[in-house]
Amino acid sequence: MSRTSVGDALYDELVDILGEEHVLPEVSARTNRTRVPAPFPVHRWADHVPDIVVLPSTTAEVVEIVKLANRTRTPIVPRAAGTGLSDGAVPLRHGILLDVKRMNRIRDLDLDNYTVTVQPGINMLKLNQELQPHGVFYPDDPASYPCSMVGGRIGTSGWSLIGARYGHTKDLVLSMEVVLPTGDVIEVGSGGGRKLRKASTALTLKELFFGHQGTLGITTEATLGLVPRPEAEFAAFFAYPDYDTAYRSCGALSKSGLATLAGVVLFDEKKLEYLRRDDEAYIEQPHDVVAVNAVALYGTEAEVVPAARRILEIGHETGGRYLGDEVSQGDWAARHDRYAIPLHGRLRDTGQVVPMSWHCEDAAINYSELPAVREKWHAIADRYIEKYGIFDDWGMFAYTNGSHQPYGDYLVEIDIGIWEQKLDDETWTAWSECKKEIAQVAIDHGGSITACHGATRAGEVDLVPLELGATFEVMKSIKRMLDPNHVMNPGKYLFDQAYGEDVPDVGEQRP
Ligand SMILES: Cc1cc2nc3c(=O)[nH]c(=O)nc-3n(C[C@H](O)[C@H](O)[C@H](O)COP(=O)(O)OP(=O)(O)OC[C@H]3O[C@@H](n4cnc5c(N)ncnc54)[C@H](O)[C@@H]3O)c2cc1C
Repeated sequence: MSRTSVGDALYDELVDILGEEHVLPEVSARTNRTRVPAPFPVHRWADHVPDIVVLPSTTAEVVEIVKLANRTRTPIVPRAAGTGLSDGAVPLRHGILLDVKRMNRIRDLDLDNYTVTVQPGINMLKLNQELQPHGVFYPDDPASYPCSMVGGRIGTSGWSLIGARYGHTKDLVLSMEVVLPTGDVIEVGSGGGRKLRKASTALTLKELFFGHQGTLGITTEATLGLVPRPEAEFAAFFAYPDYDTAYRSCGALSKSGLATLAGVVLFDEKKLEYLRRDDEAYIEQPHDVVAVNAVALYGTEAEVVPAARRILEIGHETGGRYLGDEVSQGDWAARHDRYAIPLHGRLRDTGQVVPMSWHCEDAAINYSELPAVREKWHAIADRYIEKYGIFDDWGMFAYTNGSHQPYGDYLVEIDIGIWEQKLDDETWTAWSECKKEIAQVAIDHGGSITACHGATRAGEVDLVPLELGATFEVMKSIKRMLDPNHVMNPGKYLFDQAYGEDVPDVGEQRP
């Protein structure tokens, strides 16, 4: 066994808390939890390896581990499924990696009040399999549905494909138990109760713990709102001869006012081109199709049948051609697989297949700004592709992003393939610059640099203070107050700045 650099004393204390079986010092256990699916500086792999991995199963164990980390000033990083795309679960300063996978129990299913209380290591697919016999479901539905977990969904403040109908993670989690960086345990949510959906006593703290990327504490339990399983679903794919018509139609479909509308997704021509070329789940569409809108309706039969008629009318009236049931249903169903991490790409000049990883840069943008942002983003990508030859533009999506009112801002994403093995310090820096330019466009157009993935990666993280303005100062004060020794996931969100000259010595600084 190769022991880790945390030292024998800390190792022994962790074993006292968890038993030897659930403390993993082996190199394989640690390197396996070093990265997330987003492009990774593989040439600098060693910079991100945690010193030790722990697998607690109870809140009491988490409390003991966090207290130990705080006392010994050891960095501690929570990790759920490790599918987050902004490096949130990557241990930038080594230390203890707290894997929540064993915390996967359903604690309480309340079918009278339509809630379920779970530990953070349960995944969405598994949870819904357990709920299915009861006629209810938990409608948090990311493209990473089969692999991501409740803890990570909260940590990133995730976005759901069917959020227009049911809301996103922050709307669906009613309350939660959080172990703070000092080991204290709090309950956040409406009122003192765990199952209230709305109260107005004092300050609202729940949202503070969404999208914090494990920098403010560890969620150890969450109470989630449930909805009846939909009796009917309807999916429609509309094809367009050009992007502008598709864009206008997307607006009309989103503003239909139909309560059953769960989401509208606009694919641009580069995305279609990429899907045709490289995507295993692609269902053949006619070659004259340049852009597509995908619509989904969820609800009762009585609601969905007439709503489907109306949606077909709107699509048609605004220049769309219905692509038929096979493409529409098949492709919508493939949403969860479609994003399965591509492991290859084709070089544009030779068509040669090479190993590539997939980066998606996301932003929240108002509808009116989508065309301009799209043009600028592709132009930025083109410049880097031409100069470095290891990047590729895999096209763009725009998803309705509002909960319950899908006509506000959109989750906009540009996907870029990267020939990861070719990365070196120069191209990694270029890549970060590219992301920074993309993020800057979002801000210039009144948007946010991220709608669901988070902004903790090199590149866009530099723009967090710009987007937040004076709020960033408040954020730093909160971090310092909750985490006086800067042990929770150090290196993220520029939180070193919260500690001024006195950055606590927590692990090795990333060069
Ligand atoms: C194929 C694919 C498709 C995707 N599609 C979507 C999508 O449609 N919508 C979307 O929102 N995202 C999507 N993502 C991104 C990702 O799946 C989500 O962001 C997801 O929320 C991350 O969950 P996870 O369990 O993997 O968390 P992790 O990656 O393990 O963690 C994410 C962050 O949360 C923190 N964290 C984890 N557990 C806890 C805890 N218990 N307490 C406190 N902090 C914690 C971590 O430190 C980290 O900062 C996709 C990713 C992939 C690979």
